[in-house]
Amino acid sequence: MTERPPLLMIPGPVEVSPGVLAALSVAPPSHNAPALIEAFGSALAAMRQIWSAGPAAQPFVVAGGGTLAMEMAVGNLVAPGDPVVVVNTGYFSDRLTEMLRRQGAVPLEVSAEVGDAPTEQKVREILFTHRRAGPWRALFATHVDTSTGVRIDPEPLARLAREHGMVSVFDGVCATAGERFDMAGWDADVYLTAGQKALGLPPGLAMMVVSERALAARASHRGRGPALYLDWERWRPVMLAYEERRPSYFSTPATNLILALAAGLREILDEGLAARIARHERAAAALRQAWDVLDLAPVPVRPELAANTLSALLFPAGVDGSLVARVLAHGVMVAGGLHPAIKDSYFRIGHMGYAVSRPDLLRRTVEAVAVSLRDAGRAVDPRRALAPLDALEGQQTAAPAARRRAAKSSS
Ligand code: PMP
Repeated sequence: MTERPPLLMIPGPVEVSPGVLAALSVAPPSHNAPALIEAFGSALAAMRQIWSAGPAAQPFVVAGGGTLAMEMAVGNLVAPGDPVVVVNTGYFSDRLTEMLRRQGAVPLEVSAEVGDAPTEQKVREILFTHRRAGPWRALFATHVDTSTGVRIDPEPLARLAREHGMVSVFDGVCATAGERFDMAGWDADVYLTAGQKALGLPPGLAMMVVSERALAARASHRGRGPALYLDWERWRPVMLAYEERRPSYFSTPATNLILALAAGLREILDEGLAARIARHERAAAALRQAWDVLDLAPVPVRPELAANTLSALLFPAGVDGSLVARVLAHGVMVAGGLHPAIKDSYFRIGHMGYAVSRPDLLRRTVEAVAVSLRDAGRAVDPRRALAPLDALEGQQTAAPAARRRAAKSSS
């Protein structure tokens, strides 16, 4: 007998929509198949819109994870000996620093206490203090750090990078399409991501959009250049060809995932990017109210630092990591801590992609957490915790794709 899998509410991978699942579940097409070419081309065009990128920027989609997308940015932009800046907000910023060091770069890290983010002012001051270590080649920052739930504001950092002649690189793995990012408006250079988070796809795709300035920085790379699979210059002709609806080959694309990508990005654009982000915002606000009722304090130290896409929540008195297993026993999978400094004192819940268009799934999550807290001895009232979700249900009108499906099934 196959058991029903738990509802996947970790910060990636996430639940995917029926439309994405259907696009994925076909016999693998060749990389030259007309349907694949069309899907690839339309996905690249959709990325330009979802990233708010200018016409000269180049989208890339490569089989791999978010870490591969990070490696691509580092490998194409940084040569041994390059001074670079990392705005560090947690586990994934640490990973970036490690990558940069392995590449032989010399990172200057600007950090904050766990749960906080360095202010623009602090970054400016540290750059000034260390001005003799520059000029810096690039500035790296994590839009939403999945280990802490901390969201930074990329706009002032992109501006700062511009002032210092650095290219700016933002890791949007836990943010893209759930948080606002205006690549052209902010004049940012690289926004990288992966499929399995707010884009609402299965894992397996590394994606990024790269500015003309960053492509020029690759062209004038002062080292031996990136590893072949990472090289924007090898991939660019492939991306240009597919966007013109011609087949091309450098390394075999994950063809089923490209079909799913095209379907998923179409759903986002059908709904409208701004509406989609507003939906994430409303869901996050309702969930924050629910966590407050349950005495679950957020790891981010100020409300404006709390991401739309996940909640990182400290265990209340008398509760420990066994809560995660209790929640799973109620059919919902949430995640344990990840940041090494606070690993055993908090847990994480993802709320991004398809799940935020399903208030019933968010309700199930809050209910499972509330009942598990009660099982663990906390005096909580699950009904009170669910009240903000009742209000949300009224606000979250169904996404267009869900409306169409509902109309179809009732006809
Ligand atoms: N950056 C961030 C912000 C992430 O959340 C993750 C994945 N949790 C990664 C990078 C790495 O992505 P992947 O696990 O797909 O390699």
